[in-house]
Amino acid sequence: ATERRSLIMLFGATGDLATRKLYPAMLKLYEKGNIRDHFAVIGSSRYKFDDAKFREMVMKSVDKESSNKKLIADFASHFYFVTHDVTDLAHYAVLKDKAAELDKKYKLGGNRVFYISMAPNFFGTVAKNLKNQNLLSTNGFNRLVIEKPFGRDFESAKALNDELSNAFEENQIFRIDHYLGKEMIQNIEAIRFGNTIFEALWNNRYIDNIQVTLAENLGVEERAGYYDNSGALRDMVQNHIMQIVSLLAMEQPVAFKDTDIRAEKVKALRSLRVYNVAEASTNFVRGQYGSVGNTKDYRHEDGVPEDSNTETFVAGKLLFDNYRWSGTPFYIRTGKKLADKFTRVDVVFKKPLVDIFAFPQNGNAPLNANVLTIFIEPNQGFSLVVNAKNSEQGFHTEPVNLQFIEDSKRTKSTPQPYERLIHDVLKGDGTNFASWPEVANAWKFVDQIRRVWDIQQPMFPNYIPGSMGPVSADELLARDHREWVYKL
Ligand code: NAD
Repeated sequence: ATERRSLIMLFGATGDLATRKLYPAMLKLYEKGNIRDHFAVIGSSRYKFDDAKFREMVMKSVDKESSNKKLIADFASHFYFVTHDVTDLAHYAVLKDKAAELDKKYKLGGNRVFYISMAPNFFGTVAKNLKNQNLLSTNGFNRLVIEKPFGRDFESAKALNDELSNAFEENQIFRIDHYLGKEMIQNIEAIRFGNTIFEALWNNRYIDNIQVTLAENLGVEERAGYYDNSGALRDMVQNHIMQIVSLLAMEQPVAFKDTDIRAEKVKALRSLRVYNVAEASTNFVRGQYGSVGNTKDYRHEDGVPEDSNTETFVAGKLLFDNYRWSGTPFYIRTGKKLADKFTRVDVVFKKPLVDIFAFPQNGNAPLNANVLTIFIEPNQGFSLVVNAKNSEQGFHTEPVNLQFIEDSKRTKSTPQPYERLIHDVLKGDGTNFASWPEVANAWKFVDQIRRVWDIQQPMFPNYIPGSMGPVSADELLARDHREWVYKL
């Protein structure tokens, strides 16, 4: 493995994300040698930790990842702690000195990654202070990693972005969307652009519709406070679903590199039809889960107001006004307390224009549509439904499923999203991060839906836990004489 040289300055180093995801991901990179001798982490938060206490916490958080105690101890020896309140300017001087000291000690070449793993209201403050208090290096790279959510509508996202842009260039900003770190999301490009049989048909002449489903079977759990302020549209659609849709809809990038891929994703998102009030209310439906047996409905979860109108389910129809997709809708849906936990994409091809087998005298059932399903999680793989003759007497066709599911041993060893994404940051590869124009266009689309919902009173709760959402989500497709490929 190529060793990447850098200081990682982590804000919010004692938080949930850092301990649950970031340290385990860094350990994997360390184990593989992607980071090794020339790497150091300065963790900071308001905790009164010293280095020893911090290292103990880091070691504990990676304990399950490896049985190699020596590896873990060596890894942890690269971690340093600075007690730091991000709003207190005096504290930045301490960070600055520590960074200089570690740069020398580990020969980091002036490379710096600033990772803000804190509540979003601090993103702008930290970025500004990093610049004003001269923490940016002058002889290596400076990269800023920002967690989600990136704003709560276009206006607030723009304000945040303006703050970040005062201190960092767009190509130095890495906005995390952990779905982009998932193996099968990255595989969308391989399937599309690596196969003549798909890409040649990847348009409105041959594809009837595309369906994207991100289903969760859990409810809000402990995140109720955050979730109730956000809802499924902001929490899942604006970021993850829009990113997946743009990868499915974009034109072929000139080359397989971040700037080219981003350019195509932005173009796709710009041709997404932004709905007016009437279109938004017919093309999007929302839901909130009720209760079954003695489970709690959403409004009785801890931390949720009893009159909450926050949606825990969204389904919608997206239309692209461009030559490739005009007339071929993308249906999306996501929600909590659904039948199962999975993410999948179903590409439904048009049926043959003439069905020569369907003459009444043949008594053959109508042909099925070819469906390419991309399984993103928990299984990784894809399947393709084709029509074939069955082996019985006479002539009858039946759908046959060609399927490839990645072996579970291999999926276990595929890097987790945060491992991939941190590695990408260290390489300076922005492919799997959301660029500002993508984020901006996604918000503009989503804001129109929100605007309509904010003035209409929903009839909540409207779906049963363990279902696939409210009836209106099925009606959305039935109206177009279609149905969800995945149904109960
Ligand atoms: P958290 O509340 O667990 O951690 C926040 C950290 O910031 C803590 O270390 C805390 O001590 C520190 N902090 C708070 N105020 C501070 C201040 N004034 N000065 C210095 N340090 C301060 O939050 P989290 O769950 O780790 O989330 C971090 C970010 O990651 C958020 O943007 C969140 O939306 C995002 N995120 C989290 C998860 C997750 O699974 N936890 C998943 C996706 C995205």
